[in-house]
Amino acid sequence: MSCEKLREVEERLQKACERAGRKREEVVLLGASKSVPAQRIREFYACGLSTFGENRVQEFLKKYQALEDIAIDWHFIGRLQSNKVKYILGKVSLIHSLDRDSLAQEINKRANVVQNVLIEVNVAGEKTKGGIVPENLLAFYQHLLSYKNLRVLGLMCIPPYTEDPEKARPYFAKLRELKEKLESEFLVKLPHLSMGMSTDFEVAIEEGATIVRIGTLLFGERR
Ligand SMILES: *Cc1c(COP(=O)(O)O)cnc(C)c1O
Repeated sequence: MSCEKLREVEERLQKACERAGRKREEVVLLGASKSVPAQRIREFYACGLSTFGENRVQEFLKKYQALEDIAIDWHFIGRLQSNKVKYILGKVSLIHSLDRDSLAQEINKRANVVQNVLIEVNVAGEKTKGGIVPENLLAFYQHLLSYKNLRVLGLMCIPPYTEDPEKARPYFAKLRELKEKLESEFLVKLPHLSMGMSTDFEVAIEEGATIVRIGTLLFGERR
């Protein structure tokens, strides 16, 4: 059953890459596994999915321990409290949700090796959402360059919820443009755009996503 789900998503992913003229290897499929039991994650791993993203630190730590015998590439994708940073450093290869300087400071202070992060951008400027608003992104990125234990690999966004994936397209395009702007301003190459979820990952791939975060399609409704 897990393998079946994975194969369905994989097929859609491959088709979206083809339509966009992109290679399948350019896109990482991340299983957004919040509230999915460790045993199910293990099943999906056995089917060939190896990158998983968690939202809550306590829940992540339990699963991390329970699944220590397999080589999962763990990411952190949820809102992160500064006082919990110390628990996840060294356990996650990428933090997708860097959304404020106090968090960057804490990561920089606690990390023993360079921690890879993505800056979460509040693409629609929603009051209720975390993330750096586009107007402040360049200054924020520049400021982060002073932190030696932190490396920015790209940008992440969660656009406003909509049933119609086409409505998300302008936000995905905007995130790509912001990444290109950073690359040209700072003469750097940022490899990642983390965007696209169950309802809109195909559009996200067309707009340049390199990591799609998929929960519901793989694991079913959980909320
Ligand atoms: C839950 C979650 C996802 C996956 O959402 P689905 O709609 O279930 O695919 C992606 N990104 C983040 C940050 C999430 O919290």
